[in-house]
Amino acid sequence: MYEGDIASVLISEEQIKERTAELAEAVAARYADEPMQDDLLLVGVLKGAIFFMTDFARALPIPTQMEFMAVSSYGSSTSSSGVVRILKDLDKDIAGRHVLIVEDIIDSGLTLSWLMRNLKTRNPASLEVVTLLRKPEACKVDVEVAHVGFDIPNEFVVGYGLDYAERYRDLPYIGTLDPKVYGG
Ligand code: 5GP
Ligand code: MG
Ligand code: MG
Repeated sequence: MYEGDIASVLISEEQIKERTAELAEAVAARYADEPMQDDLLLVGVLKGAIFFMTDFARALPIPTQMEFMAVSSYGSSTSSSGVVRILKDLDKDIAGRHVLIVEDIIDSGLTLSWLMRNLKTRNPASLEVVTLLRKPEACKVDVEVAHVGFDIPNEFVVGYGLDYAERYRDLPYIGTLDPKVYGG
């Protein structure tokens, strides 16, 4: 599939699976002693997080409910400005709920920082983040990410939900793109 487009496999299917199980264990431990009136609410950020979200939810040994949001960041296609527009909002009220945002990747962290401020105004009981990937730039933004799968170098990656021009989401691993895909 995508013959010749992928320059290297950065994180294999097996590594994703193993790390997801570890994250699930850590997250379950985090909420173990929390008095929960309702199930943990996973909020997936479309579309990139869907692959991670479904695997993560199945690896979690505690019951969860799932909601999705779609946001779009103004700015160029490669860097976000931090000005965000909600394309699809949550269907449900999250007041009093324990909410865990599920992200594919945090790059500048601007999108997530905006999203957390927005969701906090809705008065959840708690609001935390689990992300599969994090890039070095993310550390410059004052956004607390409780659970991180992999810290990766500052390279453009695709696969396992992550796209380039809507392609490559269906790859089962995380890979780097061959420069010829951008350049032609
Ligand atoms: P930021 O953290 O900069 O506000 O934006 C994060 C979003 O930018 C991600 O949800 C993703 O859509 C996109 N993004 C950032 N880095 C990459 C990358 O290496 N590959 C892909 N496919 N998308 C990325
Ligand atoms: Mg995302
Ligand atoms: Mg994208």
